[in-house]
Amino acid sequence: MYDFIIIGGGISGLSAAMYASRLGLKTLVLAEMPGGLITTTHLVENWPGIKSISGPDLAMSLQEHAQASGAEMKYEKVANIEKSSNNIFKIKTGSNEYQGKALLIATGTHHRRLGVPGEKELENKGVSFCALCDGAFFKEKVVAVVGGGDSAAKEAIFLSEHASKVYIVVRKDFMRAEPINAKQVEENPKIEVLYETEIEEIVGTDSVEKVRFKDGREIEMQGVFMAIGHIAQTDLVKDLGVELNEKGEIKINRKTQTNVPGVFAAGDCADTEFKQAITGSGEAVTSAYYAYHFVNTNANF
Ligand code: NDP
Repeated sequence: MYDFIIIGGGISGLSAAMYASRLGLKTLVLAEMPGGLITTTHLVENWPGIKSISGPDLAMSLQEHAQASGAEMKYEKVANIEKSSNNIFKIKTGSNEYQGKALLIATGTHHRRLGVPGEKELENKGVSFCALCDGAFFKEKVVAVVGGGDSAAKEAIFLSEHASKVYIVVRKDFMRAEPINAKQVEENPKIEVLYETEIEEIVGTDSVEKVRFKDGREIEMQGVFMAIGHIAQTDLVKDLGVELNEKGEIKINRKTQTNVPGVFAAGDCADTEFKQAITGSGEAVTSAYYAYHFVNTNANF
């Protein structure tokens, strides 16, 4: 029996694990893989106190801190969560069942897909969702990043270290990247932003050969990186009766409580507007604090 079970091993889950363990809660983190989404980020330059650190290094330092504080980590995919009549949560993975008094859902997001012909067929054959993972395969090649947000800007800047040319394909007539990243995009001679442009089809047989746009233009390229946002991974909590918003994100209050007593949520799967590593971490720390009170009083505090 655990006091606090955290589902998700990203920045949010690990931050909660460190705090909860220090508060004396017997804490388990269940994660599919180490580190979460930040491990696909080349450089994190907005974590307070650290000017620049790689995503994987930040995640691993948080994991070490959580484990040193006493949290247990298990790499198992959660299949199902139930609440029993005595208010204990039962979490089934493929091979085990764990019981906990309070839960944190920190399951993050998965990548949104464009849904155009060629995207699925050429995935891992030039179509990628992670510049850090695949960028080095595109040395001196032409690539495109799709999306007009901060992720698109950061992916393009990283890819320009490898590729000979990077297009950013933006459907609006502006980008909404952080000003510091937008400036770097603007000043980078290898990057060209194609505004008001949408992909019709990604063309290729064994690998990406070119992209056809809705306006009829075609550009030859070897890689297409999707950076068009994320979708909250919240299917697991639907059967628990946890309320979601219209985007499928978990509704939380300022104490990170959901509508189900004992169930907390933090990070990118929650219905917060500003999704940053540090805000996810802060929400998760708040969860640990209120979970501590919940476990000790069996009531929302
Ligand atoms: P966003 O949701 O901010 O941006 C997604 C972009 O993709 C938008 O420009 C959107 O266009 C575009 N888009 C969505 N669907 C389509 C489509 N079907 N076709 C074409 N374009 C499409 O996602 P990000 O991943 O950039 O950012 C998500 C969050 O993560 C943000 O809050 C961001 O600040 C944060 N972030 C934090 C980082 C950090 O902590 N260091 C790093 C990177 C991101 P449109 O503008 O038209 O809607």
